[in-house]
Amino acid sequence: MADINLENADPGFRKELAQQPGGEKITACFTCRTCVASCPIAAVNDRFNPLRIIRMALYGLRKEVLESDFIWLCSSCYSCQERCPQGVNITEFMTLLKNMAVKEGHVPTGVKAQKEIIKDKGRIYSIDDFDNKKRNKIDLPSLPTTCEVVKVLFAE
Ligand code: SF4
Ligand code: SF4
Repeated sequence: MADINLENADPGFRKELAQQPGGEKITACFTCRTCVASCPIAAVNDRFNPLRIIRMALYGLRKEVLESDFIWLCSSCYSCQERCPQGVNITEFMTLLKNMAVKEGHVPTGVKAQKEIIKDKGRIYSIDDFDNKKRNKIDLPSLPTTCEVVKVLFAE
């Protein structure tokens, strides 16, 4: 990851975040790194570090955070949030950042593709006749290949 450059920092970003659900407590972070030690994604990918994202946000690095692809690596497992001694809602903060990124049009191609699969099939892994044949061979029932209920959620 590139070094942090504060030249174009947005001093209002911290306040903007603190006023929204998920961002209320980020200023209470005292950099204990419990969230980093608890994070299964940080354990396998050094591009992802929840504390670093929080610090970047507090420094006002709006563009670097919202236009990044690393915020999308958070799996929303809540391990960090359950353990944070300062009660920072870290998982919800990551969701807030993702929602803000979507509103500003910064969504990685892979995430957009996943959305289309969920919208069309109701699952991230689409089930087809080949999958159902394999299931039937081991006496498992067929699964539906589409999910109309999910389509309703995406209706515009
Ligand atoms: S666990 Fe909480 S207080 Fe500790 S570094 Fe992470 S966000 Fe900050
Ligand atoms: S919720 Fe996200 S940041 Fe927190 S531990 Fe899980 S993957 Fe890491």
